Amino acid sequence: MPNHETHRELLRRFGKYLAVAVLTAFCGLFALATANAEDASGCQNLPQQEKLDTKWPINIGLLSDQLIVYRCKDYMNDVREALMEARTWVKQRAPQVVKAAVVFDIDETSLSNWEAMYHNRFGYAATGPCDLSSTSACGQREWDLSARATALEPTLEFFKLVKTLRDKNGDKLGVFFITGRYEDPSERIATQWNLRKEGYDGWEKVFMRPESSRADQFVSTYKTKARIAIENMPEHYTIIANVGDQISDLVGDHADRCFKLPNPFYFIPGDPVPESGIKCLSRQ
Ligand SMILES: [Mg+2]
Repeated sequence: MPNHETHRELLRRFGKYLAVAVLTAFCGLFALATANAEDASGCQNLPQQEKLDTKWPINIGLLSDQLIVYRCKDYMNDVREALMEARTWVKQRAPQVVKAAVVFDIDETSLSNWEAMYHNRFGYAATGPCDLSSTSACGQREWDLSARATALEPTLEFFKLVKTLRDKNGDKLGVFFITGRYEDPSERIATQWNLRKEGYDGWEKVFMRPESSRADQFVSTYKTKARIAIENMPEHYTIIANVGDQISDLVGDHADRCFKLPNPFYFIPGDPVPESGIKCLSRQ
């Protein structure tokens, strides 16, 4: 075969292989995207449950699998159990207090971001689009704005219980959310809509982190200030319970009792816990 014929044949074969490779890659991506869309919670095809070897730092890939297993099997029961004492406490305490209030954190306390966390396999992308049917990472801000977070059922049940209670004067309890989401008009609209859409309605106020608090090292500084602001409102609320999934939601006290929900999926640092501990956690 003349040389130019050989080249033409090679190009033809290469083109065919390239087309097959591109098609295969496309089908793979499509299959992954479809699988993601079909099992957005990751609970339908769970990884094997395994005990992790803690002799060495835990392999992050193995840990990721076990967190998915935990989320799908035991997490919600653990949230419910953590709130059992809170339910008993608010029923007992509310009638003893004038202008009683309860504070809730939002993310992983009132609303679950599991679909985005699972999609990102616990990675975090602050910005960028969020398309859960694609293989690209989901940006947190776009996810927040989509208002697709879902109620953590045990917290919603607790919220509804709080709404039925009355304080010493027979008044309804004040209900507040204090979130680490930054204040901006779009975030506020989406966050409040997400709360209401999921059943959290009839609260007094959502505190969102002001831009000015970026100067603080930890989010807990702003959260403590927000609880003080609740106490200093004209009503002079007494916060009888504060519920959060991070120690940074609770450190700083300014609540009779506080309740920590499990969250092994991410960590938000806060002001150091004093040597004497967090009083609202230890009070019986
Ligand atoms: Mg939280």
